[in-house]
Amino acid sequence: MTTENTDTKERLRHPEKAGKPDNPSPRKPAWIRVKAPTSPAYGETRRLMREKNLHTVCEEAACPNIGECWSQRHATVMILGDICTRACAFCNVATGKPGAVDPLEPENTGIAARELNLKHMVITSVDRDDLADGGAAQFAASILKVHDYSPATTVEVLTPDFRGKEGALETVIAARPDVFNHNLETVPTLYRAIRPGANYLGSLALLKRAKALDPLVFTKSGIMVGLGETAEQVLAVMDDMRAHDIDFLTIGQYLQPTPKHAGVDRFVTPQEFDDYKRAALEKGFLHVAATPMTRSSYHADKDFAALKAAREAKLKGQG
Ligand code: SF4
Repeated sequence: MTTENTDTKERLRHPEKAGKPDNPSPRKPAWIRVKAPTSPAYGETRRLMREKNLHTVCEEAACPNIGECWSQRHATVMILGDICTRACAFCNVATGKPGAVDPLEPENTGIAARELNLKHMVITSVDRDDLADGGAAQFAASILKVHDYSPATTVEVLTPDFRGKEGALETVIAARPDVFNHNLETVPTLYRAIRPGANYLGSLALLKRAKALDPLVFTKSGIMVGLGETAEQVLAVMDDMRAHDIDFLTIGQYLQPTPKHAGVDRFVTPQEFDDYKRAALEKGFLHVAATPMTRSSYHADKDFAALKAAREAKLKGQG
C-alpha cells in the first residue's frame, strides 16, 4: 500500500474524510504480500501513461499489486479524469469536482493498448454523476479506439452504475466490450456505510440488463471481504449474482488505503477464500477468482482466457 498518506496529501485527496477520526485496522498477516515496483517494464508502463496523459486505477487506488502487474505491462486505464463525484468509504480515488472530459483520452487509450502489446485491456473510470450520460460515450469511444489501434486486444470495461441514466448502458454495450464488469463491492447490509450513493439491487439489474442487451458479453462482478460481512451474507450475494446471469465472480481482501477510510474488520484466511471459490463454482459461475490479493483487474487476461474456455466447454457439454 502507499506510504504517502501524509496529512497534507490526504486532506487534498479526500477533503470529505479530513474531519473523520482514524479507523484502526488489525496488523497485516503474512499472506498479504506486495511486490516492490522495480522492474524496467514497470518504469516503461509508467512513462507511457504519463506521456499519453492517462490515469490508472492501479496508481489512484494505491493497488497493492502494481509492482507485479506493471512488471508485466498490465495497467488498468481509468478514464474520465482522476476526480470522482462520489466518496465511498473504501476507495482511495480523490473526491471532488471533476474537470472537463479529455477528448484525446479514447485515442490515447487505444495507443496504450497497442504500445503495451496487451492481449486484454481493462478500462475503468471514476464516477461521473455530473455528466448527462455518466461518461458512457467516453467508455464507448475508448472501446472503439482499442479495437482500431489494437484489433487483437480484447476489452473489459469496469463501469460505474451510471445512476440509471437512460441509454448509458446501451451506449457502452453497443461498442461491443468482451467483458462487462460492475462491482457490487460488498454485501447489501454494508452499503450505507461502505458504498453510499449506490444501490445493490440497481447494480444487479444493470449487470442483468448488460447480458440481455448482448448475450455474448461476459458479465463480471466482485466484492471485497474483511469489511464486517458474514460468510452467509457472501453466499447470499453469490446467489443474487447467479440469479442475475453473472458469469465471473472476483473476491479479494479489503485493505485500508488511509487511516481515514473504513477500517479492516478482519483478514480473511486463504482457506476461507478457497471455500468461497468452491462454493461459487458449485453455484454455477463460469469462473471465480478468490484470493486475498484478487482485485477486479488482477490477472484479467488469464482469467478472460479461462472464462472463454469455460463457456466453450459448457456449450460443448450441452451440444
Ligand atoms: S490488480 Fe488491477 S488495479 Fe491492481 S495493479 Fe493490477 S491491473 Fe492495476
